[in-house]
Amino acid sequence: MTSKKCIALYSGGLDSILVVKMMQDQSIDVVPVCFCSPFFGMDALQDPEPFKELHRSRYGIDVHPVDFSHEIIRIISDPKHGYGKNLNPCIDCKIGMFKKAGELMKALDASFVVTGEVLGQRPMSQRRDAMNLIIKETGLKDVLLRPLCAKHLPPTLPEREGLVRRELLGDIAGRGRKVQIELAKKYGISPDALPTPAGGCLLTYGQIADKVRSTFKRFQPCLPSPADVMLDTIGRKFILDDKTVLVVSRDEEENKKLSRLVFPGNVFMKIADVPGPLCIIRGDDSGGSYEKAAGICLRYGKARGKSGHTAVYGPDPLTMTGTVSAPVLDDDCCQALQIDMNT
Ligand code: SF4
Repeated sequence: MTSKKCIALYSGGLDSILVVKMMQDQSIDVVPVCFCSPFFGMDALQDPEPFKELHRSRYGIDVHPVDFSHEIIRIISDPKHGYGKNLNPCIDCKIGMFKKAGELMKALDASFVVTGEVLGQRPMSQRRDAMNLIIKETGLKDVLLRPLCAKHLPPTLPEREGLVRRELLGDIAGRGRKVQIELAKKYGISPDALPTPAGGCLLTYGQIADKVRSTFKRFQPCLPSPADVMLDTIGRKFILDDKTVLVVSRDEEENKKLSRLVFPGNVFMKIADVPGPLCIIRGDDSGGSYEKAAGICLRYGKARGKSGHTAVYGPDPLTMTGTVSAPVLDDDCCQALQIDMNT
């Protein structure tokens, strides 16, 4: 082990920022990678440049977003170590990320991998037994360093070989944030530049988990694509028939988010002449599903309950040239098709 270079698993949260700083402080060349998918890091996945610029300008960190969508979909379908509270397969997810980080380590001629994990901070994946299991199954064994809590763990190879000075590493444990805030100060991160706690991983949200479960079921025995599960993370969702789903935005913010989901197979729809939600249909037009979609779209717009309106549709929000009349559907009919009734 000679290269003074490491891969850092970077979430954009304070802990991951601190481990990058701690390693740079020891003159280690750090490559921060941020794993992204429809359930976490979606903004970085869709539009990497603003994300990279923010972390460069605010923290001086040059982050590399890495698409983890196919991996997390495969993991959700059958996690060896089960799920957390909802559909979050945290142990298998970590194992998958660490394995991928290990591949990057070899490809980039780095010597070890660092993460911002803290012993006992999270219930499922940061218990000591879970951490040991993750080390064992990733094959990273001796080259996975957790700088924030390293002193609670046996010395790793980079520490034993002197690449990393163990005495400068942390002994943090548990859920408190005091030491991290102090460390942030030490590295010149002002309180107003501390990352705000993001919404976190969407697989931990009950309603989204229900929608994702239903999508996996619909695709059995195959797996859904990233574009399919992305539609489980925004808006109200309706099953129009066994091949076709509809997502209806709930506000202006979701209109913007949906408008970015231009993928093959997505069809955008809205009511032509009155304000209302942007919708995405994914599937096909068999059995009058576009007409049904137009009726639901009408139900959530300003022309709710009024007949004589037309919906336009097309492959992206700027090219909606198809038309279909929007029938007035009653609430019972709409609700019978909705799978996330509380939204
Ligand atoms: S919370 Fe989500 S991103 Fe984090 S380890 Fe669990 S499944 Fe993976």
